Amino acid sequence: MKRWRCKLCGLVFRGDEPPEVCGRCGATKEQFEEIKSYRETRMAKSKK
Ligand SMILES: [Zn+2]
Repeated sequence: MKRWRCKLCGLVFRGDEPPEVCGRCGATKEQFEEIKSYRETRMAKSKK
């Protein structure tokens, strides 16, 4: 199972595919990026 993070609000979603719409901020699935490792969920801002 993959993890996806909303780039707008940081909500993490688990599943094989990103959700159609973010349950928190309403962003579309294009705004979700796959999280490669659990650590990335905690280092959301340090990357890039
Ligand atoms: Zn969101």
